[in-house]
Amino acid sequence: MHSELPASPGTRMPEHRIAISERGSFAHATCSCGWYSPARRSRDLARREGADHLADNGGEAG
Ligand SMILES: [Zn+2]
Repeated sequence: MHSELPASPGTRMPEHRIAISERGSFAHATCSCGWYSPARRSRDLARREGADHLADNGGEAG
């Protein structure tokens, strides 16, 4: 058996929730922490940049 629960459940962590916003033919990723990616023509690329941001900040990809 193994568990992947965090070691310190009481630790307060900043939330990073990525959302994709589209404007015309452009898309950009925005995060609940206030971060946002540059506008991209590819929604897929915007999502990848959002995932990169999560990876950089220890957030969860979802
Ligand atoms: Zn963030």
